[in-house]
Amino acid sequence: MRTLNLGILAHVDAGKTTLTERLLYAVGVIDEVGSVDDGSTQTDSLALERQRGITIKSAVVSFVVDDVTVNLIDTPGHPDFIAEVERVLSVLDGAVLVISAVEGVQTQTRVLMRTLQRLGIPTLMFVNKIDRGGARYDRTLRGISEKLAPAIIPMGSASGLGTRGARYLPYAAGDAGFTARLVDLLADHDDAFLAAYLDEATVSSCQLHGELAAQTRRALVHPVFFGSAVTGAGVDSLIAGIKELLPAAEGDVDGPVSGSVFKVERGPAGEKVAYVRVFSGTLRVRDRLQFRGDNEGKVTAISVFDRGSAVLCASVAAGQIGRLWGLGDIRIGDAIGLPRTTTPQRHYFAPPTLETVVVPGRPADKGALHVALAQLAEQDPLINLRQDDVRQELFVSLYGEVQKEVIQATLADDFGIEVTFRETTTICIERVVGTGAAVEALGKEPNPFLATVGLRIEPAAAGSGVEFQIEAELGSMPRAFFRAVEDTVRETLRQGIYGWE
Ligand code: GDP
Repeated sequence: MRTLNLGILAHVDAGKTTLTERLLYAVGVIDEVGSVDDGSTQTDSLALERQRGITIKSAVVSFVVDDVTVNLIDTPGHPDFIAEVERVLSVLDGAVLVISAVEGVQTQTRVLMRTLQRLGIPTLMFVNKIDRGGARYDRTLRGISEKLAPAIIPMGSASGLGTRGARYLPYAAGDAGFTARLVDLLADHDDAFLAAYLDEATVSSCQLHGELAAQTRRALVHPVFFGSAVTGAGVDSLIAGIKELLPAAEGDVDGPVSGSVFKVERGPAGEKVAYVRVFSGTLRVRDRLQFRGDNEGKVTAISVFDRGSAVLCASVAAGQIGRLWGLGDIRIGDAIGLPRTTTPQRHYFAPPTLETVVVPGRPADKGALHVALAQLAEQDPLINLRQDDVRQELFVSLYGEVQKEVIQATLADDFGIEVTFRETTTICIERVVGTGAAVEALGKEPNPFLATVGLRIEPAAAGSGVEFQIEAELGSMPRAFFRAVEDTVRETLRQGIYGWE
């Protein structure tokens, strides 16, 4: 059985959640199509998501199409939660980018496509809402080729646009216009294909399809499908495209273990549950795993996704996504076993630029609030927690206003803490502009310590972080003292003269 880890991405409201429901219905995972508008979809699990009709945390649903197991990873489209999207992208084999036939290419669509292209993730496009008034075929295609990617190929035409009876009509294999456009596009990217075509003057439709799949899997070209998630038009063709054109792989289950954690959640008893995409090898219950340097944990339980639900399993193998229990110190972004690439994890989206003060409703909750926020921040490394020691205030960083509601609801539901927020402000960073030095000598007032410590601070390139170097002889004081100095320096630099990092 081959596995495909698939993401569906879209600007908010383009219809990603509705399309997910429709796919699950078409492949037989659910018997009824849920509706975003009455809050009955499969993937929107948080109560808040149902209320707001938006997808906040990514969820995984699995289904089988012929010989391919598809792990469908639902990704949020709201810009406040772009940090979630970033993590999910790193474990995808392929993606479907949903574009509304009415609104066309939107801001977030462009951000997502740029990122997919940078990561080389094979992407199909689905132009949704062809049944809705104002839906346009040519204009949407033009928008896609101008703003998203020039190398696209529409896979069919649409009729009855803007009406409930709108249909998607896939081009037949021998369709002359389609064949000519396809040959043109494919020849652009592959000289061998061009040469073969020029030699023989014709290629079979089977060869063409094979070449289209090959170039789609290399993320060179992007097939475009049309349809409606609400009426189901075009959805079968999209499913066929997912199976035939995206790279489902037979993983190396006996190879060295390599996996990546893309989501961490807490179970009912507060225990950590890590979502791991396994690239190679097999992870088993009772395995001891190493991650992030010397951190270690023993896997106590595993569940994998199977036809819409999570089932307990003794192991999870290459290609699959598993939920792992027992890894208390695991964090999002951790690599398990061999890292997939040697380059360190990069952030593909900008870090948050806003922050707000979180104020407990009852002053006595302050301690509990700190613990709760620290826990949320640990589940989400792009959410920073900052404490202002002078004013005794807790700051969290944000992408936008909706996130406040999510944090508020999570604190109330999961921790029983009611909070309010101050006005959102922009995050500032204090930079070192010149060189400064100071020394406190042993035995001289006001130095109460058993060492002489001198520090020199120099500016580094913006964004390059903090580098700590020792210029004293290593034997000049105990090792633990060096460690303490470095820790204190790093801690101190988290808050500059004006209270910013
Ligand atoms: P998401 O934010 O991308 O997940 O989008 P949703 O699936 O929540 O859809 C946003 C709105 O568009 C909802 O009101 C849907 O009912 C509606 N919608 C989604 N797909 C279609 C479609 O194909 N046709 C029509 N007419 N409406 C759609």
